[in-house]
Amino acid sequence: MNKMNKFQYECIKCRACEKACSIFLTTEKYSPIEKLDIIELLLKDENLTKKQEHAIFYCNKCEGCQEACPQEIPLIELYDWARHEIYKKVGFQSQKQAILTKNILNEGNPFGNKKSRLKGVPSEILRKRIVGSSQSSSRSKVLLHFGCMLSYRLQKMRDDVLRILDLLGVDFSILKDEHCCGYFIFNTGDHESAKVAIEKNLLQFEEFNTIICACAGCYIFFKKQYPDSDKFKHIIEIIDQKVREFQCEGTLPVKDDKEINKTISFHDSCHLTRPFGITKAPRNILTALKYKINEFPHSGKEGLCCGADGGMRILNPELAIQIGTERVKEAKDSGSSMLLTLCPFCIYNFQEANFEVSKFKIGSLYREILSYLKKYLDSIE
Ligand code: SF4
Ligand code: SF4
Repeated sequence: MNKMNKFQYECIKCRACEKACSIFLTTEKYSPIEKLDIIELLLKDENLTKKQEHAIFYCNKCEGCQEACPQEIPLIELYDWARHEIYKKVGFQSQKQAILTKNILNEGNPFGNKKSRLKGVPSEILRKRIVGSSQSSSRSKVLLHFGCMLSYRLQKMRDDVLRILDLLGVDFSILKDEHCCGYFIFNTGDHESAKVAIEKNLLQFEEFNTIICACAGCYIFFKKQYPDSDKFKHIIEIIDQKVREFQCEGTLPVKDDKEINKTISFHDSCHLTRPFGITKAPRNILTALKYKINEFPHSGKEGLCCGADGGMRILNPELAIQIGTERVKEAKDSGSSMLLTLCPFCIYNFQEANFEVSKFKIGSLYREILSYLKKYLDSIE
């Protein structure tokens, strides 16, 4: 608690954090400075108003403020601490948070979906990869983890990542029964229930040396809240490694002239850039695929959030979409032909935001990679 007391004296009210905060830039409310003042009250054990409690949860946990802070105040750690304190005092912020937590604990996913996560996965891949299948000859010690968004909301993206790894010759397994990583619950402040989800996963992960994460949300939670963080890799790192190998061997195929230099905007996932510095991998792949990247004014480590994460889609979906709409507009106004991203939260939010922005093309980076690989394989057959 000493460290938390100390931070107040370190804040110099320079407002650098506000310039990096999508929520503040969109609403002119819920600034990181306001949050710090509320945390100060919590530390003094003073009662908060409902509005103050809510303000702590009006945050995408994008780490923009923390990255911008010249005083290096551990803002995310403080927000997580405050969310937990508020949860212990008053419980969930909304009925939806309670339902989602119950669903994860009972069904293993926030949507309460009782069907298999693997519904619709191409059978030839299932036969080879699923752990526990009588037809799978060996068990790779590398596990591909989809996450709930890919399993239940973005199944095309799920199948694209499966096919990409398969085509690239990566040896991997998939689980018949994957559980939610617990990130959704953690962000409600209910850390005790999040631990239940963590324990379930740890049991399943025991037999694997490497976990490849297809979701940036699962990835950050695994890296920060699970033991043995080196075990977790993001899929874009694996794909980038393979592309670099092709480049070294000189076997990377050349695109048709008409497909070269298509200008796109690429939206970084906050969960990959600021905490882990993953900015080069997607750009290297895009450049290898001959796209021209039209960078956002704020990109890479300085990128602005899509608006979806940190629990905002659950607490206030309208605000999440409003923030996402700003990003889509920015991409459209830049003259790009499409907006590409690799994070299921971002793409899901952008797709809804896009109704506001007259059908601008929103795409998944994985879809582009897969169509390129398919053309390559067709050309060498
Ligand atoms: S950037 Fe850091 S020091 Fe500056 S106002 Fe924000 S929290 Fe305070
Ligand atoms: S983590 Fe992101 S959304 Fe939350 S206060 Fe900081 S900049 Fe704003």
